[in-house]
Amino acid sequence: MWSQLKDTKTLSKNTRFDTIQEMTCEHFSQEKKIEPKAIECEECKKEHLPTVALRMCLTCGHVGCCDSSVGRHATKHFEETGHPVMKAVPDKSWKWCYVHEEYF
Ligand SMILES: [Zn+2]
Ligand SMILES: [Zn+2]
Ligand SMILES: [Zn+2]
Repeated sequence: MWSQLKDTKTLSKNTRFDTIQEMTCEHFSQEKKIEPKAIECEECKKEHLPTVALRMCLTCGHVGCCDSSVGRHATKHFEETGHPVMKAVPDKSWKWCYVHEEYF
């Protein structure tokens, strides 16, 4: 699964080279008011894994753990659903787009 993901990343990096100066993310414009569905990563809870930090999906409110956590459930959620954007919870200081691979 990892090698497949890396290939997609390289591809998307190459295709956005010429537009990098005025980067906007159209994925956030789809954003509605979304409330987190949970206060912790429920997958981690089930599997008894430690959670380092939490990310909330801005499409459906799914709460998953970050890539520093063992489960990487926020990334898995993107791979499974294609929901492109999430933000840090609970501090909400930044958002991340998986498609553009940029912080906003
Ligand atoms: Zn985007
Ligand atoms: Zn998790
Ligand atoms: Zn989602």
